[in-house]
Amino acid sequence: TLGWGLIGASNIAREWMIGAMRAQPGNAVVAVMSSIAERAAGYAAAHGIPAACDHIDALLADPAVDAVYISTTNELHARQAIAAARAGKHVLCEKPLALNLADAHAIVDACHAAGVVLGTNHHLRNAATHIAMRDLVRAGAIGRPLFARVFHAVHLPPHLQRWRIDKPEAGAGVILDITVHDADTLRFLLDAEPVSAVALTPPSTMAHGAIEDAVMAALQFDNGVLAQLHDAFTVPHAGTGIELHGTAGSIVGRDVMTQRPIGEVRLRNAEGERVIEVVPHNLYERSLACFNDAVLGRGQPAATGDDGLRSLATALAVMEAARSGQRSAVQLA
Ligand code: NDP
Repeated sequence: TLGWGLIGASNIAREWMIGAMRAQPGNAVVAVMSSIAERAAGYAAAHGIPAACDHIDALLADPAVDAVYISTTNELHARQAIAAARAGKHVLCEKPLALNLADAHAIVDACHAAGVVLGTNHHLRNAATHIAMRDLVRAGAIGRPLFARVFHAVHLPPHLQRWRIDKPEAGAGVILDITVHDADTLRFLLDAEPVSAVALTPPSTMAHGAIEDAVMAALQFDNGVLAQLHDAFTVPHAGTGIELHGTAGSIVGRDVMTQRPIGEVRLRNAEGERVIEVVPHNLYERSLACFNDAVLGRGQPAATGDDGLRSLATALAVMEAARSGQRSAVQLA
């Protein structure tokens, strides 16, 4: 059995993660923590969670909590993850792991020292579509990968806008929210590491002050691949996708940069174009199934702490490039 404590009474837990936890054999959601006692109690009641508290110490002292799922605003992740690790709890943390690399390293180190599992909840690499695309690349279906394009310009619905568009100290903005997912997905698909970034941002139309709500960036990978990224909070009708172009073929994924188990993958090569058969499954349930296996000593979470650290490093390089106007190296420390 695995008892989950929720750190953060969040939308993502409500919309996806509580259900995904309950779909795992032997898993239960046993407690929730919010910074406001009343919110914690209301959230617990609304979702049938037996315990509620307004302080992390109370949640971590609960012996029914074996693992925590951290989905607070981004500036809180590091402190909460480290506290959970020190209390001997396994940690599934939302992206971005932290706001800076030192904090991300501190999370990874604390979990390692405590001997607990650390996962980063990068959902996209759990999608059947992305797994199929990765398998094609690995099987050589496009020859040597040369280029990738990511279409991840979406419209942030009003109930998710809040801190994402007006609270820089919470890690607001599109780069820590969406570019960080692109970075993880490209690393997953290409089996390669980003080494440098260039980026431009337009004047914000939704976010306040200097917070970026859209970005176009290019990444160079250590295998020579160039990737272009288009991320936004402000575009309702673009649709999402990812394309991988190689010496012998192209993979076109449509509607695949999403939380839902949808999307289509096509392979184009000298023989023509065909749709790749994909059997969809819930992305978050797969993330949790892998996490459960890791707790049982069978493999790793779908995205590890190191993956979370590397996606953050890439997002920070994009941010630095956009703000400085200079090409920026992806640095891990
Ligand atoms: P929310 O804004 O829903 O939750 C963040 C915090 O805001 C909560 O911990 C809660 O604080 C507070 N809060 C939530 N709803 C309300 C409300 N109605 N009124 C006042 N306060 C509220 O954030 P998200 O769920 O969108 O994101 C949380 C984390 O998850 C982020 O790190 C984000 O990057 C990540 N995320 C990941 C996704 C993925 O697919 N991997 C998708 C979406 C988000 P308190 O707990 O103190 O009550």
